[in-house]
Amino acid sequence: MTQANKVYQPLPLSLSTDVEEEVQQNILVTSVDQVLNWARRSSLWPVMFGLACCAMEMIATATPRYDIARFGAEIFRASPRQADLLLVPGTVTWKMAPAVRRIWLQMPEPKWALAMGGCAIMGGPFAYAYSVTPGVNTLLPVDVYVPGCPPRPESLLTGIMLLQDKIREDTIGKKWQRRDVEPQFHRYLPEGDPIRKELEGLWPPYLDYGAPYQGETFPS
Ligand code: SF4
Repeated sequence: MTQANKVYQPLPLSLSTDVEEEVQQNILVTSVDQVLNWARRSSLWPVMFGLACCAMEMIATATPRYDIARFGAEIFRASPRQADLLLVPGTVTWKMAPAVRRIWLQMPEPKWALAMGGCAIMGGPFAYAYSVTPGVNTLLPVDVYVPGCPPRPESLLTGIMLLQDKIREDTIGKKWQRRDVEPQFHRYLPEGDPIRKELEGLWPPYLDYGAPYQGETFPS
């Protein structure tokens, strides 16, 4: 009998009562880590947030041509309390720094951050300017860096895939620790500066800003 004149039988109206067959077809064995990581990496919700020209490329990533929805990350949330991914696309000026840090603090755990473009990574073309931070990693812990000026949408998608790989390796077995960075703004902003005062309120109050810097520095 050829495929064209094959006669299909109607499906049975009643459901099968063969328990063994049902079990074989409907049970999937996996680990909690696998399920949680799959759900988390497949439904990243970014904050609706942009700082400069890189944000245009981020917006282009959400258009049908690049379709960030293929990676489950198309739901840009207007509230940081409903988001778990902070894309930082653009120049982070000191004036904007308290707002960026506050948005990060308002996001619930688990959360991730991606620095998009040279500006967010190290100041870009404005590096060493008095008004620009030397990278958003001075304000919050960054998981993935996507270089470029600006990076193309394909680069951002690659960064999101790298982040997904990172989430895939996560486990609930480890002790949970809040991730944060050591503040560095007091090395750049003078005492009494209103932005410095605002930033001091966004780190734990027991920090001694007069103590020498303990974090990583560039080799001299
Ligand atoms: S990295 Fe280049 S494109 Fe991106 S915000 Fe900075 S100047 Fe603009």
